[in-house]
Amino acid sequence: MNEKSIVIVGAGMAGLSAGCYARMNGYKATILEMHSIPGGLCTAWTRKGYTFDISMHMLTGSKSGPLHDMWRELGVMENRQFHYHSEMCTIESGSRRLSLCTDRKRLEEQLLVLSPADAELSREFVRLVCGPNMMGAMSLKPAELATPSDFLRMSLAILPVLGTFRRYGKQTIQEFAGRFQDSFLREAIRMTIDGPGWPMVRFPMVAMAGFFKSSISESGVPRGGSQQVAYAVAERFKKLGGDLRLRARVADVLVENNRAVGVKLADGGEVRADEVIWAGDGHRLIFDILGGRYVDDKIRRMYDEWTRSDRSSTSASAWRGTCQGNLRASASSSTGRLPWPARNGSGSRSSTTPLTRRWPPRASRRSKSGTRAATNTGGNWRRTGRATTRKRNVSPN
Ligand SMILES: Cc1cc2nc3c(=O)[nH]c(=O)nc-3n(C[C@H](O)[C@H](O)[C@H](O)COP(=O)(O)OP(=O)(O)OC[C@H]3O[C@@H](n4cnc5c(N)ncnc54)[C@H](O)[C@@H]3O)c2cc1C
Repeated sequence: MNEKSIVIVGAGMAGLSAGCYARMNGYKATILEMHSIPGGLCTAWTRKGYTFDISMHMLTGSKSGPLHDMWRELGVMENRQFHYHSEMCTIESGSRRLSLCTDRKRLEEQLLVLSPADAELSREFVRLVCGPNMMGAMSLKPAELATPSDFLRMSLAILPVLGTFRRYGKQTIQEFAGRFQDSFLREAIRMTIDGPGWPMVRFPMVAMAGFFKSSISESGVPRGGSQQVAYAVAERFKKLGGDLRLRARVADVLVENNRAVGVKLADGGEVRADEVIWAGDGHRLIFDILGGRYVDDKIRRMYDEWTRSDRSSTSASAWRGTCQGNLRASASSSTGRLPWPARNGSGSRSSTTPLTRRWPPRASRRSKSGTRAATNTGGNWRRTGRATTRKRNVSPN
């Protein structure tokens, strides 16, 4: 039997997992990666004995659920331990602070103290984020492969969140947060998911159902860090018989009769295949390489809105550093506080409010020795100068 072939551009998590599933489904699969190591954004690097780990603060579904099955199939769960935080982050403004914690009672108490006038809305928020989880209704099976019993199982799983769909189907978190009377809560609730440098434009409120469970208590930090997770998937791909080529930059996509039939490498070589998957930067493919020839209004709008929103947020990398607790970009102040343009509930800019989102919370960042630690994942974390790092070795394959 002639194997059908797939060429995949990019060995980030998307490309690597596409490659694994291509092999599991009998395709001859080749991944072309321009870097010398696989992983893409899911990476870490070492300088002067310290490892800077930028991704994987949470591996969604590391404890259970459909995504857990996917990680298992991709070889990520094998011999891997996870740390589970009890708080997602703390949002501060002056003396006011809100810890977004998984303890439902504590979360509600804080909200009620911060703004008694918003008691009803606060309770609604807590009920939603600590309530039934959307993940349970998810299926990894493509609809065309689902059997009647799969549909029945999915329908039963959707039942507990049907009310949520009815109530919040058309609402975004930005709109929901805008209903709070208290200005700090208006910002803090939105920042649960949408912050400067990491904008989640028009984030659907339904996706917040059970968010604290699916994203905090059931999503762990992988011990060993991001790079090891990427290496595990790369290993799985190779064990499945996939061909992973590093230092292979793709310069062009070969198109015949409006169909991608392969790619052209920067060194002039060509790789032809029945299917082509681009798992690199979407804008580069759609607008640069393909010259915008295959876009519709929907795609154009998505790129336009995302780009505008990303550009307008202040000190993107600095905020990420502060919020994620891993890296401190040079733009951040010594206290890690960043002035940034706040947004009102409708998403438009209002005033300049110094608001800080710390992740993980300060209390959990003290190590036993008293040094400030970036996360309580059990590793040896320290804050040195402008950077917060974890000392461990990352050895490329
Ligand atoms: C600071 C930070 C924290 C994060 N935290 C989390 C988290 O806690 N949990 C979570 O689930 N996700 C997290 N993410 C997101 C997650 O890391 C990314 O969504 C994911 O790694 C993206 O994978 P990808 O394969 O889509 O893209 P990428 O990782 O960008 O991979 C694309 C790959 O394609 C290659 N490539 C591009 N162009 C070419 C070309 N022309 N030829 C050959 N190769 C090419 C690139 O070198 C790269 O390796 C975080 C991201 C960041 C930046």
